[in-house]
Amino acid sequence: MIPSRPPYEAGARYYSLGSYYKKTFGEPIRKISLDAHFSCPNIDGTVGRGGCVFCDAVSFSPSRRLGLDDLDAQIDEGIRRTSARFGASKFVAYFQPSTNTYAPVDVLEKAFRIALRRPEIVGLAIGTRPDALEDEKLDLLASLSREKWLSLEIGLQSSLDRTLRLINRGHDYRCFVDAVARARARGLRLGTHLVFGLPGESREDARLTARRVASLGLDSVKLHNLSVVKNTALEKMWRRGEYEPPGLEEYAEIAADALERLPSEMVIERVAGDVGSEFLVAPEWSSRKNAGKNAVERVLRDRGTWQGAAFDPRWRDPDLEDERHL
Ligand code: SF4
Repeated sequence: MIPSRPPYEAGARYYSLGSYYKKTFGEPIRKISLDAHFSCPNIDGTVGRGGCVFCDAVSFSPSRRLGLDDLDAQIDEGIRRTSARFGASKFVAYFQPSTNTYAPVDVLEKAFRIALRRPEIVGLAIGTRPDALEDEKLDLLASLSREKWLSLEIGLQSSLDRTLRLINRGHDYRCFVDAVARARARGLRLGTHLVFGLPGESREDARLTARRVASLGLDSVKLHNLSVVKNTALEKMWRRGEYEPPGLEEYAEIAADALERLPSEMVIERVAGDVGSEFLVAPEWSSRKNAGKNAVERVLRDRGTWQGAAFDPRWRDPDLEDERHL
């Protein structure tokens, strides 16, 4: 297919979250991160124990279930800090750490409504796993999304089942596809998170995951480089010599491949992540602010390419032939 240049802002090579917010809300919006103290089914034994290999699972143990009493204070603090730093006056409340649909529906509603009732909060972003999205929870989210903007971020990381097993993810790709189908049927705005540089994954594997995510019609995606963080199972793998994270240039090439394969209207929430040096084991470059982002943008510039340049709308996943309705 012949790629055409998409109408991004001058100089941009992908559709950034900042551009999307400006287009949608008419002004700059900032996310503030909130911790509702939920746990995770991949930690408390419901699905698995120990969590994903890259997760500092101890910090999400069931003992974190401290209640929702401090959410208002977190919002106050988030608004104070974020407006001082960026001058923003409107915010998206981002329920970020752990699994933010892993609680009874009434508890979830209470948590989300604490944020929704604040006039400075224009919407919610809710991060979760595909196996914590029972129908009644999706019904709740669909109902809240009719009151304010809402984005459901369903973590995937990889679409390869062998990788998902290796990283102790506790669900397979079909579980994700099923959650996406049920959420889409309710009209929810959907995002996902992908990690590149996972153990045993090739550049071609990452391209396949990008094509699959593109074919599911998601609204947004976050790309992460895998970093080895202290006190994780991945750190043990790294110390035993079983895993080496990708170098900066290698990661940038993989992420650029993925961006080329994603449709131009998909919002790219981030193209790489940073880890504070106090938590980081390896690689050194991922503690450098914006090193990954700058490298990915440089690769796209050097290639003379952009998000969507290799997107093929006719591509169908041969492994999901019976789920063509997606
Ligand atoms: S799903 Fe998230 S919170 Fe749960 S173990 Fe994996 S990374 Fe940690």
